[in-house]
Amino acid sequence: MFKVHDIRKDFPILSRKVNGKPLVYFDNAATSQTPQQVIDVIVDYYSNYNANIHRGVHTLSQEATDLYEQARQKIQAHFNAKFSHEIILTSGTTHSINLVANGFSSILKKDDEIIVSALEHHSNIVPWQMLCERTGATLKVIPMNQEGELVMTEYDNLLSEKTKLVFVNHISNALGTINPIESIIEKAHKIGAAVLIDGAQSCPHIKPDVQKLDVDFYVASAHKMCGPTGVGMLYGKEEWLNKLPPYQGGGEMIAEVTFEKTTYAALPHKFEAGTPNICGGIAFGAAIDYMNTIGFDVIASYEHDLLDYATKKLLEIDGLKIYGTSKNKTSVISFNLKGIHPYDVGTILDKLGIAVRTGHHCAQPIMDYFKIPGTVRASFSFYNTKSEIDILVEGVKKAKMMLS
Ligand SMILES: *Cc1c(COP(=O)(O)O)cnc(C)c1O
Repeated sequence: MFKVHDIRKDFPILSRKVNGKPLVYFDNAATSQTPQQVIDVIVDYYSNYNANIHRGVHTLSQEATDLYEQARQKIQAHFNAKFSHEIILTSGTTHSINLVANGFSSILKKDDEIIVSALEHHSNIVPWQMLCERTGATLKVIPMNQEGELVMTEYDNLLSEKTKLVFVNHISNALGTINPIESIIEKAHKIGAAVLIDGAQSCPHIKPDVQKLDVDFYVASAHKMCGPTGVGMLYGKEEWLNKLPPYQGGGEMIAEVTFEKTTYAALPHKFEAGTPNICGGIAFGAAIDYMNTIGFDVIASYEHDLLDYATKKLLEIDGLKIYGTSKNKTSVISFNLKGIHPYDVGTILDKLGIAVRTGHHCAQPIMDYFKIPGTVRASFSFYNTKSEIDILVEGVKKAKMMLS
């Protein structure tokens, strides 16, 4: 049985107060909180193992290297990658996407096409625009409908032999929609295009199996799944990672260097120039352990309960509109109160100790589609409770009273 009150004890921050009120943390889609088990690993690393990895003959360096490589294996196992060298440790989703986009600069030709979706985070739009500018390729966009779902028949129409790459997020951070990535991948592969899935928003809720998905690239950030900031991962199929050129030059990524010619290190080091976030990588492994101990099935079903409960309660408020109403969504609710700016609602909620996000959520095209400046976004994690949702609902009612 899932005991949320025991789980909450793992998160020291959840017992602090904000503006004199108990913290209600509903900004999980921006970053998740960190359990003591992960904090302990960070403290332990700097207290006992801190050293640079992969180059030292001394004991500390070897121990740190072992811990770092064990973390890579945990990540490999979690995502069910075939090889541990298919897991590249990066500084996060943004870095991972840019690494792939840069690599495709040397593959794409003029008149090739890249397909992205209308539901993307800016970090999944801008690198492709830059790639198109460099290569002369064209960016095509899968449109969305009023429910905040991708229009799959339009996707079918966009695919052609010109398509070389498809980039879609697994779950939209702004609306919570779960995209039909299985069918997106299958259709892209039929015409020989590669697929990158942005899993930044899915990995806190579900456990993707990259081999079963047969996806070419999959990316995620540790800080949205109970790990620290500044670390994330890129999964790439071995054949693709061998094909792509290195992203950054530096130490660690070379086999041999002379002034005439440098040869690159084998995977994964080819893509890991410089000293990485060693502690972060190890803590990422610990975060994955922590979430797996709770279990992703348990997490998904508990969060779904929270979503249903909050959706029902919030819709009882007159004039409240929810954006993103797909049946297939995770525990993210984007909403507005009629005639009231989301920023004002967020400010009042903060006074009540409730942390939500307001604004365009790095997804301006979605806001333009709905013709709104932004939304208030409450995003729930497995450590949230229904009584916290009650506090949110009361807070929104209060904000409505004060602002209308
Ligand atoms: C958060 C997020 C990103 C960016 O992740 P960073 O950790 O800031 O690099 C990209 N895509 C989606 C869907 C996100 O939710």
